[in-house]
Amino acid sequence: MSASSDPSLLDEIRSAIRKICGDFPGQYWRQLDQERAYPTAFVEALTASGWLGALIPEEYGGAGLNIQAATVILEEIHAAGCNAAACHAQMYTMGTVLRHGSDEQKQKYLPAIADGSLRLQAFGVTEPTSGTDTLALKTTAKPTDKGWVINGQKIWTSRAEHSDLMLLLARTTPRDQVAKRTDGLSVFLLEMKDLVGRGITIRPIRTMLNHATTEVFFDNVEIPADALVGEEGQGFSYILSGMNAERILIAAECIGDAKWFLDKATQYANDRSIFGGPIGQNQGVQFPLAKAYAHMLGAELMVAKAAKLYDEGAAHGIEANTAKMLAADASWEAGEACLQTHGGFGFAEEYDVERKFRETRLYQVAPISTNLILSFLAEKGLGLPRSYGK
Ligand SMILES: Cc1cc2nc3c(=O)[nH]c(=O)nc-3n(C[C@H](O)[C@H](O)[C@H](O)COP(=O)(O)OP(=O)(O)OC[C@H]3O[C@@H](n4cnc5c(N)ncnc54)[C@H](O)[C@@H]3O)c2cc1C
Repeated sequence: MSASSDPSLLDEIRSAIRKICGDFPGQYWRQLDQERAYPTAFVEALTASGWLGALIPEEYGGAGLNIQAATVILEEIHAAGCNAAACHAQMYTMGTVLRHGSDEQKQKYLPAIADGSLRLQAFGVTEPTSGTDTLALKTTAKPTDKGWVINGQKIWTSRAEHSDLMLLLARTTPRDQVAKRTDGLSVFLLEMKDLVGRGITIRPIRTMLNHATTEVFFDNVEIPADALVGEEGQGFSYILSGMNAERILIAAECIGDAKWFLDKATQYANDRSIFGGPIGQNQGVQFPLAKAYAHMLGAELMVAKAAKLYDEGAAHGIEANTAKMLAADASWEAGEACLQTHGGFGFAEEYDVERKFRETRLYQVAPISTNLILSFLAEKGLGLPRSYGK
């Protein structure tokens, strides 16, 4: 067992996170939700306490914790009724730089990301016309005398307005000229703040939840040669290598959401008295909650297994994807049972249930939709023919 999966350390993490979250009650999130505003004070509190640098090795100024510890951080944030989506990318997007960046890039960026003076929160992969089919993306990076020039468009680039840096995936070799179908895409680390208004345009997208997501346009954006991360043409595999960590961490957020919904529903079912007794004494109210609880407990085990395998460096693709799907299903089921338990009050903003319900729905679609996980499991887990991107 590594030091950062020691149960007493994990307990300490849980109580430290709970303490921070105690300063950000439902009222805080409700108001932000109404205004579609960014939770700056919450993100600053997590940054100041060092939690967003949890996965950065100590030699670069981070806490050097592992994924198991990071799942505890994110789960607790969500179980406390908060939402980590405003800043979770600061924790894991740097993984691509850590694993594939040059020494110069690591020295330059990782310590600043660890202390929060630089925010790497924007991850530009999805495009309007390619969607899940990442290899069909159209944004290009072409070599120039001084570096690269970027043209194209990204969509759903979350937190771009609250980030100094962006990790961008762009095509550097036309699709019909690559030896392998997965070749020809490259990853760049853009000092985005300097480029807004100089070729980069960011447009917020208003969504059903408060998520600070945007579309980003690139019009002849010039970037230096040393913005390239790793080897040219190998970007797709670099991005894939970070996606399992993201799936495990977001699965942990879903477990946190499920716990919040179940706590809230149980409290309400015990307190609300109708027909002369608590509504929670009726099996029609209990059973959907008990079922959601059982599914949450099962999903929680899979998240723990995926995180452990990841930390051990063992194969974990099946487990990471399964964890993401089961946890997203568990949080959605718990949300549905919680809302139903609250009857009409579930729809009232002041109970926070409808807000969390909207927030947790996202995880059926992003960062990977359930269908694509099922396709992956059918192929890699069961050996059925590949159904997509042949
Ligand atoms: C709020 C929000 C934040 C996001 N943040 C980011 C971000 O920061 N960076 C980023 O790069 N992306 C981000 N995304 C994008 C997200 O990852 C994509 O929305 C998601 O991967 C699905 O892509 P799509 O929306 O283009 O759907 P499509 O690919 O168009 O799919 C639409 C539907 O068809 C289904 N489908 C597609 N192909 C198949 C198939 N072969 N078999 C079965 N079903 C299929 C999908 O499951 C889905 O239900 C975000 C999205 C949202 C909504």
